[in-house]
Amino acid sequence: MRNNLDRLGLDTKKPQQDDIVGATGLTFVTPIEIVDLPSRGVFYPEGHPLHNKDTIEIRYMTAKDEDTLSNQSLLKKGMALEKVLQDIVVDKTINMDTLLVGDKNAVIVAARKSAYGTDYQTKVTCPSCGKVQGYEFDLHNCNVKEPISDEELEQLGIHKTEDCTFIFNLPILKVPVELKLLTGRDENFISQRVREAQLAKKDVESLLLLQLRLMIKSINNMSDPKVIAEVVTMLPAKDSKTIRQVYSQITPNMDLSHDFECKSCSFETRLEVPFTSDFFWPKWWIPETSIWTILHPKVSWRMVVYRSV
Ligand SMILES: [Zn+2]
Repeated sequence: MRNNLDRLGLDTKKPQQDDIVGATGLTFVTPIEIVDLPSRGVFYPEGHPLHNKDTIEIRYMTAKDEDTLSNQSLLKKGMALEKVLQDIVVDKTINMDTLLVGDKNAVIVAARKSAYGTDYQTKVTCPSCGKVQGYEFDLHNCNVKEPISDEELEQLGIHKTEDCTFIFNLPILKVPVELKLLTGRDENFISQRVREAQLAKKDVESLLLLQLRLMIKSINNMSDPKVIAEVVTMLPAKDSKTIRQVYSQITPNMDLSHDFECKSCSFETRLEVPFTSDFFWPKWWIPETSIWTILHPKVSWRMVVYRSV
């Protein structure tokens, strides 16, 4: 394909459209979409392809991507969505594993909107009475939580480093802690650990501790992962809460919450758009157990990240 494109004189490095030249000589054009990055590129270190870039280009999903999404072997490994996300990004120097979680969420939502529209019908469980009910989310209503400004950081006593990490003092231990924003790779690591635990029918190591371990780059200038893993288990509750609060303040993200009123008990709250099986699989039949295995870890740990503060 590259040779064909070269012969056609198309610039393959920075395409505005993804042209596919088939054996028939017909040219099919897959539209490209420009997705705003919640991070505006400010939290990528120098040298990262998204450093100071406020958008990312993706192509619309194709029938081949739908095939990938329903590929049983990829589904079992939890890699189906990851593979499609990597495939649809136009700039191949961008590794989706290195995307900040909020930016990756923006790509997921944009891809879903382009393929299946903005109406998302799914089932949700009322947090108050537990009643499962149908609910329709409008993905148009997803606001972007933009990155925190340097002035705000200063007011909060948080120092931003050149490596795009954030240092502040813990209120109880009175030592400096350095946080990094979670990436697609961290998210996959957590999902993998949850999946392994489920398959082995073991308890999942507390998601909260896992999440803290991955967020903390160093504590009291010690960056050995083993030390961090140990310290995390002994953190005073107030310090742990402060870390999660600061993380929530500094992290750019998609605001995926919507107003919800329970049809059964009238309980009102804000609910996150759940990335459950029907988010990307609205019209195929796939054994529900496989989807549940793949998606449930992600759903449950998102709940921890967004609800624990
Ligand atoms: Zn209810």
